[in-house]
Amino acid sequence: MEKGFTKKKAYGQNFLTTDSIPIRIAEVCGADEHTGVIEIGPGMGILTRQLLARAAKVVAIEIDEELVPFLNERFGDNEKFRLINRDVLKCDLSEIIRTEFEGLDCIVCANLPYYITTPIIMTLLEGGHAFKSITVMVQKEVADRLASTPGSDGYGAITASVSYYARVIKRFKVGAANFSPKPKVDSAVISIIPYEDKPVKPICEKTFFEVVRAAFATRRKTLVNSLSGAFASRLSKETIADIVSSLHSPTVRGEELSVAELAAIADRIHGHIGQEVSQ
Ligand code: SAM
Repeated sequence: MEKGFTKKKAYGQNFLTTDSIPIRIAEVCGADEHTGVIEIGPGMGILTRQLLARAAKVVAIEIDEELVPFLNERFGDNEKFRLINRDVLKCDLSEIIRTEFEGLDCIVCANLPYYITTPIIMTLLEGGHAFKSITVMVQKEVADRLASTPGSDGYGAITASVSYYARVIKRFKVGAANFSPKPKVDSAVISIIPYEDKPVKPICEKTFFEVVRAAFATRRKTLVNSLSGAFASRLSKETIADIVSSLHSPTVRGEELSVAELAAIADRIHGHIGQEVSQ
């Protein structure tokens, strides 16, 4: 099967070739006999094999139907294995967790297709599923960005959005030579641990995410200018300037602020929008 199979760039098919890497990923993801694992993109199953050796159950979601016969031949006899041939972004994950993982802790483990890393991570977090952890291999630059802190180079909207839902632990780096075909960049494994109780609780999540998007939309612009543009139809620039300067320097930039600080600004903006609407 492997012989007749041509890897598809469009699906981000850079398969792991070194056995020691999936062993390490399976070890750090915490899969054990009490755990159900959702694996996104099993590919040829190099990581799946390691997950099946540790977990109570593995549900593998693979978009490429050409891989289905191969995966079924390899793992079809294993009662812990279930394959779903679908785009992960179109799956009802709540339903999968409810029907497949009763009584088990649920985790996600994957060597992610890099072309949709961010949508996948945000879908996993926004769904409000009770994942104990999400351990994924991503491009090293993305791992650095997700683990970065306010004011540092990589800190951006995706960092703030992910750190609203979860904390990020860097695990280990994986060189490009461990994949076929060899990608242009190195990779890294991270664990994203969703908060059971989020430490930051904005009054209005929608306004909070509007603030996050606006704050990072144009780097080097002051926060006052970025927010004035985004909220132009609802608040005057003077109001935005008052809100920002009541909490920070008037020239502060979005990328200098933590999630808690962005939420505090969002709360005040939300309060002012409410006032102006009710006037
Ligand atoms: N786990 C394998 C490994 O480590 O060798 C393959 C990883 S490869 C980087 C990404 C896998 O995700 C491929 O098998 C690809 O077909 C699959 N994939 C790509 N887009 C997907 C999607 N939207 N939903 C589910 N699987 C997807």
